[in-house]
Amino acid sequence: MIKVAKFGGSSVADAGQFRKVRDIVRSDPERRFVVVSASGRRFPTDNKLTDLLLLVNAHIQYHVDCSSLLRDIEGRFVALAGELGLKYPISEKFEEFSALVASLSPEYIVSRGEWFTAQLMAEYLGKPFLDAADVIVFHHDGTIDMERTQTALRDAAQRLGGFVLPGFYGATVDGTIKLFERGGGDITGAILARCLDANLYENWTDVSGFLSADPRIVEGPRTIHRITFDEMRELSYMGASVLQEEAIFPVREVGIPIQIKNTNLPEKRGTIIRETAEDGVSEHLITGIAGRKDFTAIHVQRAHMSGEVGYIRRALGIFERYGVSVEHIPTGVDSFGVVVSASDVKDSVYSIVNDIQRDLKPDSINVVDKLALISVVGRNMSRRAGTSGRVFGALGEEGINIRMITQSSQEISIIMGVDNDDFERAINVIYDRFVENEMAILSEADRG
Ligand code: ASP
Repeated sequence: MIKVAKFGGSSVADAGQFRKVRDIVRSDPERRFVVVSASGRRFPTDNKLTDLLLLVNAHIQYHVDCSSLLRDIEGRFVALAGELGLKYPISEKFEEFSALVASLSPEYIVSRGEWFTAQLMAEYLGKPFLDAADVIVFHHDGTIDMERTQTALRDAAQRLGGFVLPGFYGATVDGTIKLFERGGGDITGAILARCLDANLYENWTDVSGFLSADPRIVEGPRTIHRITFDEMRELSYMGASVLQEEAIFPVREVGIPIQIKNTNLPEKRGTIIRETAEDGVSEHLITGIAGRKDFTAIHVQRAHMSGEVGYIRRALGIFERYGVSVEHIPTGVDSFGVVVSASDVKDSVYSIVNDIQRDLKPDSINVVDKLALISVVGRNMSRRAGTSGRVFGALGEEGINIRMITQSSQEISIIMGVDNDDFERAINVIYDRFVENEMAILSEADRG
């Protein structure tokens, strides 16, 4: 068995966290390959090293002295190494870096967060340090050269038997450092798992997995123990995020499951994400509820529109011209709506409406804003009649007006539009009805 264990920023934020990581890695000999993020926040008002390094870049760009900022960053590494009794010459190495900083590329500077963190972790775990610049190979356009990366990672794994790899960056063949998106340590972990044909990709973070609803909205929501990749896409797209989105694809394509675990509570089951989830007896009807506020819907109505070929395409072309991405298109016989994120049309909504008027000559066009979208996600909904009826019924009883509905044909999600003001209440109503009272609903559905 091969497990790739990736530890996020909060899992490596200070010496106490390093100790937890060591206990976790030592407790399972299959955890031979470790990926780390740059040291993150130690307390809520603290700063992530990556953010401080981005700030270093900004100082350089505007010719502002950044020596005290660099000293702060160095201080964090020195404290870590000191508390853990590490021999790595952190001050010396960091000062070499500081002396050159003005001549280094922004990507190189930012990548040093993971580079130094991984150096310290490697010594602490007694594993070799493997520089991501030597094994995570980027094309010049910023995409990954999977073939070269796989060869390099396999060679290193064979040669070293295990290692600590800094996440978030790699390099082109000529050695230029490139970064992934923010949170990209998750992508490094996924690429490593894929290239080594790992049996499991463990993603260690500061939460015990995916929650079935946002804890800022619902009190103490249940943890989702098993979720499919499709369900997770739906939930993360609507705002529930634990994992960097792009991290899913490398492992999903080859069928490697991802397990989200909590470094601070390693005994918790966490969440396992797979292609399919055989739930057996303890099936949950709804896997999770997520949502986002602040959408705008532009409704267009025209008599006999259903007979006009290309009408909707022409409308969508207008959105495309303004570079606006379309979220949903609920349609009626002679009408349709285009739902977009409000921030995307902040400056262009009137121009878009004008263009629709001019090019499409609709009978009416109206703009509804302050719309929130809520997505109720669950693979088990597709096998049970009546779920959407119950969702709408529950909202109706509470006097919450549903302004829009869409359901994907796979039936793993129902998406509803409600007023922004009803958003939190609607999520709580659905959660209470389905998650809290799920057993009653399930037995009723099975009887019926
Ligand atoms: N350190 C990077 C960030 O803060 C990448 C990561 O944490 O995965 O975004």
